[in-house]
Amino acid sequence: MVKIPVDCLQVFREISNYLEGDIAPEVRAKMEAHFKVCAHCTAVLDGSRNVVQLVGDGKAFDVPHGFSQRLYSKLDTHLGKK
Ligand SMILES: [Zn+2]
Repeated sequence: MVKIPVDCLQVFREISNYLEGDIAPEVRAKMEAHFKVCAHCTAVLDGSRNVVQLVGDGKAFDVPHGFSQRLYSKLDTHLGKK
């Protein structure tokens, strides 16, 4: 008999905690077992991990100086047209 330790919904609920390591060891073990058998959750895990890394190391905001100023003034102009 194959027993599924956690279902996909539980995995989605815990995935950010999992990536941050803020999770009980037994839950982590159950999720790792689930990732081995569920391609869908593995894809979600990979996608979430990329987002976490981008935000976590600050690279998402590492834009050339002046870029954000131009962006903001463009937005201002755009919004001002309302
Ligand atoms: Zn799953």
